[in-house]
Amino acid sequence: MTTETKDHAELAEIFNKDEDRVDWHDETLWWIRAKRDKSVHQLPEWEALREAASGIKHNVLSNLNAYLQEFESAAKANGIIVHWAADAKEHNEIVHGLLAENKVTQMVKSKSMLTEECHLNDYLATHGIEVIDSDLGERIVQLAGEAPSHIVLPCIHKKKEEIGDLFHMYLGTPSNMSDPQFLTETARGSLRETFLTRKVALTGVNFAIAETGEFVVCTNEGNADMGAHLADVHIACMGIEKLIPKREHLGVFLRLLTRSATGQPITTYSSHFKKPRAGQQMHLVLVDNGRSIQLGREDFRNSLKCIRCGACMNTCPVYRRSGGHSYHTAVAGPIGSILAPNLDMRKYADLPFASTLCGSCSNVCPVKIDIHDQLYKWRQVLVKEGYAPTGKKIAMQVMAKTLASPTLYHAAGKMGRLTIKYAPFAVSNKLNPWYKQREMPSSPEQSFGEWYAKNRKK
Ligand code: SF4
Repeated sequence: MTTETKDHAELAEIFNKDEDRVDWHDETLWWIRAKRDKSVHQLPEWEALREAASGIKHNVLSNLNAYLQEFESAAKANGIIVHWAADAKEHNEIVHGLLAENKVTQMVKSKSMLTEECHLNDYLATHGIEVIDSDLGERIVQLAGEAPSHIVLPCIHKKKEEIGDLFHMYLGTPSNMSDPQFLTETARGSLRETFLTRKVALTGVNFAIAETGEFVVCTNEGNADMGAHLADVHIACMGIEKLIPKREHLGVFLRLLTRSATGQPITTYSSHFKKPRAGQQMHLVLVDNGRSIQLGREDFRNSLKCIRCGACMNTCPVYRRSGGHSYHTAVAGPIGSILAPNLDMRKYADLPFASTLCGSCSNVCPVKIDIHDQLYKWRQVLVKEGYAPTGKKIAMQVMAKTLASPTLYHAAGKMGRLTIKYAPFAVSNKLNPWYKQREMPSSPEQSFGEWYAKNRKK
């Protein structure tokens, strides 16, 4: 079985083999969650902001066609060339077409989860185009030949020693050098050369404003600005759900975004792009790739409100201890688990089950997405549509029959107690994943039903 065909539980098991890594991954993300809490509690209006953001996004999703048209007209009037892509394939072809038109084979790219979703780097590589990712975390995973494991902290799963080894191999740093300051300065020097020599820069989009036709890109490193300002051609790629109606709404989202993501009061760079500078081309690719289908699924459309802050990942006990790669999709964690089945139910049928349904994700979500309810609803859809694994389906049928019959229920309870007492290996073995990380409970002498029947008579 290759990594590509493994499900969440199997991939999580690979991550779990390195217990030290699991522990600091868990602790680091919880530390970020705690920073988020501290920063949120300093704003008495936090809940009002969440409510407002959720309402604004609800309005956008309810009138998406009108806002998209308004945005397109305003962007065109500003001199931006607008492209529409129905799916990932069209998106990649459009970007490749623009590179071919400008006769370039090298491009610098800042962070864009949409391009990860569309597998743009791989597509361009097969067409002889070299892409350098300029976000430090993304550059690290790119050098490692991996996908980002977190939407805000792409290399959170990597130890600094591993990063030192990568930089030694690819950027010529001394061996065994893992000082973060030194490694960051090395990456900075190497990326500066890239910024100065690339004619085309691609950026993502955090927010697009329908009223003005401008878009906003948020980074902490200023790498999107360096790329876009120095390039002759700026290509920006965005999912169609990134719209907000007016510029005055931006403040609500900017206040929520970084506090939720890292606990900072504001992102270091929130750059507005409205029109190309003289002599520059500015292209904007608007991508659907399954979003209109999700929009039509009433129970799941709220997932399109997501502003990609990563807070639901940082708080999720499953994500923290299974790592982002175990979700085998571009956007991992709780939000990824409700977005991915929309794209391919068969491939991502395991993800809505990779949750305890504790609800912590919904509690921290700045746009109030009912994430854990949607996880639960996806489970029902997947079972109804026949995508649940055969083993699980049979187990559920047996369970339904057992719970529907008091005689069967009592007999099964008795058998379970006897098995745990006299043959514990029958349940505590490698075939039963539930017991891999757990200790066996001791078996009670009698069930509650038996105890009650006896004591009620007294
Ligand atoms: S679902 Fe909510 S918490 Fe998770 S990344 Fe999106 S906006 Fe952030």
